[in-house]
Amino acid sequence: MPANFLFNTRDLRFILKEWLPLDQVLSYDLFSEAYSIDDVDMILEQALKVAKDVIAPTNEEGDRHPAHLENGKVELPASFKEAYQFVQDNGWGSSNLDEESGAALPEILQTAVNEMFCAANPAFVPYVGATTGSARLIQTFGNDKTKDLFLGKMLDGTWAGTMCLTEPNAGSDVGDITSKAFPTDTPGVYKIKSTKCFITAGDHNLTENIIHLLLARIEGAAPGTKGISLFVVPKFRVSDSGEITGPNDVTTVAVEHKLGLKGSATAMLSFGDNNDCYGYLLGNPPDEKGKAQGMAQMFQMMNGARFETGLMSLAAAAVAYYQASQYSKERIQGRPITNPKGDRIQIVKHVDVRRMLMHIKAHVEAMRAMIYKTALLGDIMNHDADEARRAHASNTIEVNIPLVKGYVSDVVWPLVAEGIQVYGGYGFTEEYPLAQVARDCKIYSIWEGTNYIQSMDLLGRKWTMKNGEVFKAWMIELKQLIESFNKPEFAKEYAVLSEAYGAYRQIQKMAMGFYMEQKFDMFPLFATRIMHCTAKLYCGALIVEQAVLASAKAAEVGEGHFDYPFYKGKVEAARYYVRNVVPEIMTTARIMADGDTSVLDVPEEAFEF
Ligand SMILES: Cc1cc2nc3c(=O)[nH]c(=O)nc-3n(C[C@H](O)[C@H](O)[C@H](O)COP(=O)(O)OP(=O)(O)OC[C@H]3O[C@@H](n4cnc5c(N)ncnc54)[C@H](O)[C@@H]3O)c2cc1C
Repeated sequence: MPANFLFNTRDLRFILKEWLPLDQVLSYDLFSEAYSIDDVDMILEQALKVAKDVIAPTNEEGDRHPAHLENGKVELPASFKEAYQFVQDNGWGSSNLDEESGAALPEILQTAVNEMFCAANPAFVPYVGATTGSARLIQTFGNDKTKDLFLGKMLDGTWAGTMCLTEPNAGSDVGDITSKAFPTDTPGVYKIKSTKCFITAGDHNLTENIIHLLLARIEGAAPGTKGISLFVVPKFRVSDSGEITGPNDVTTVAVEHKLGLKGSATAMLSFGDNNDCYGYLLGNPPDEKGKAQGMAQMFQMMNGARFETGLMSLAAAAVAYYQASQYSKERIQGRPITNPKGDRIQIVKHVDVRRMLMHIKAHVEAMRAMIYKTALLGDIMNHDADEARRAHASNTIEVNIPLVKGYVSDVVWPLVAEGIQVYGGYGFTEEYPLAQVARDCKIYSIWEGTNYIQSMDLLGRKWTMKNGEVFKAWMIELKQLIESFNKPEFAKEYAVLSEAYGAYRQIQKMAMGFYMEQKFDMFPLFATRIMHCTAKLYCGALIVEQAVLASAKAAEVGEGHFDYPFYKGKVEAARYYVRNVVPEIMTTARIMADGDTSVLDVPEEAFEF
């Protein structure tokens, strides 16, 4: 990517220091000695510097010289190794899980750091992210043995990690995996036979060992997801004293040639070709009914990875916005529509270009509001002393995760396309940065469960969680927030959000009607659209909550102040989002009420023409 790395931290500072109660998080025992609100600027500045100086320079190299297989091993660009080392050595990576270090960042601050890192090079970040997620699994579910053997070296970045679910014939339907585990004479140690595909960071030369967190079925366990267990399977075996003793019969079969994220190695791995691969079971073996713990355990990592996918999507949309915005001020083309004989002007002065920029800006700010709110809830869930607050945070996160993953990763693709449109023809060339961003971001709607899976998670699990009480409480809270906007300045936004809330209730009723009438086909027909509506309603309310605050701040500082355009921009972005995006909820309600069944009625053969 030839362009300079561009990122603006002003919205992050607004979120962290003006909007969300970060001081409350920083008062928790784990953080109170280490950080105060006054450190936020310094942390953001340092992270931005690392993003710009250490990570961004690896972006173009990864894209031009993709991860590739050489003599059975994956080679990455040299710059990746230096950046990985730097990030891990300086406490920006998996070491953040080490609560005893005294320097662990709260999740909400780590989210800000990661947004900038993802913006700098999204193909680099998964090497750190997969290590963090897999280390966290061992930290939560491991016994003393697995922790002693693996955790320390994963936390300090000496070894990396992966999550191995997908197999050639089991993608969306993980329950169909055929990977097998056979007990050995050593309790907790199993022989592994497995082929896994599409494994991010599945092999590379960044670390001397890679610790795979792998799903497999122990002989005799129940079929489907119920019978799946989770194993720690190192690429190289490790002695009790932590030394590498030799290979563990894990082979890298291939590395995918992909549309984007080319610096991120996506590997096909074979475990136990020579019947000599061993793994350590996390938790207990299946019970007498064959029910195992693996899927429930893996959900911890999957929820983290789904959140990260939303964050990666946000970062890509933010890059599209910052880059397109800068270009629009440099490019001179055309004359004002109101003065056709006047001087040629910067394209940012054309209304249609401003519309496109506003469309991206408003989405970025709305989605960022949802993501950081969810990160804040993560800190409350993990550290608050009050059990009820922890439970409330945990429930809200459950609802938010499919929205963060599904909605943000669906809209990033058209948002980046809009960014390319701002550039005109130059946007379509590899000389400018958004061509790569477009290629890189498409995967986010697919991995970690396609977005259809996310929508069914929302409708099938989150709507009904705890007899529907969780979602009911989520809706009541949202309604209360919307009610708080009932003031003259935001009367229009209040009206639109109230109408959208009513339309959403209609959508819910109609969906329940499909269920009661056993029209099960109608559910998937609307599932993705309903997931989008849920996110639009939530994002709409959050961005107006920000706008109420920003409007007061704009009045406080006055028009001549350097921060005035920022605050005013936030108010206008909220108005745009609510009045141009949120009404799509009303449209969806109308479409559902109309009950078009063309998708169901069309003969399969018609898809040939
Ligand atoms: C770059 C990359 C990195 C990845 N990293 C990892 C990783 O680190 N670890 C890992 O385990 N996996 C990883 N994956 C795998 C990824 O999670 C899967 O590709 C994804 O879950 C989809 O599975 P699939 O590709 O087999 O598609 P399929 O399951 O075949 O789905 C194809 C299409 O059919 C739809 N579909 C499937 N089943 C249904 C259904 N029941 N109802 C309605 N629609 C359905 C899907 O939504 C999709 O649109 C990665 C994939 C890629 C491309």
